[in-house]
Amino acid sequence: MTRGPDPRQRNGNARRKAAKRYAAMGAPCALCGGRRGPIDYAAPRNHLFPLSLAIDERIPVSRWSEFGYDSPEDCATDVSNWQPAHWICNAIASDKRKPVHAARDVGSGTF
Ligand SMILES: [Zn+2]
Repeated sequence: MTRGPDPRQRNGNARRKAAKRYAAMGAPCALCGGRRGPIDYAAPRNHLFPLSLAIDERIPVSRWSEFGYDSPEDCATDVSNWQPAHWICNAIASDKRKPVHAARDVGSGTF
């Protein structure tokens, strides 16, 4: 097994469970409060579907040490640090929170 550079890639199972739970609750986007409409839980989760689900981290993993986590993994796997969001709201929020890494995190999207 190889360790990915991004700790968030290593707990996909917990994230899939969280996504299922949010879908079952019909949870609204925590970032826009549903202003953009309900989260489209059935849609593929990528930039082509801006209303699809993204799991947002209240505390960005890159700032784990400022918030008392032991490691980036600790922060990334803390379920209480997660909230449901639209893909697009999450992309906009990450841009604001992590200006240095935003381009990399959002991938080749042109937002
Ligand atoms: Zn939203």
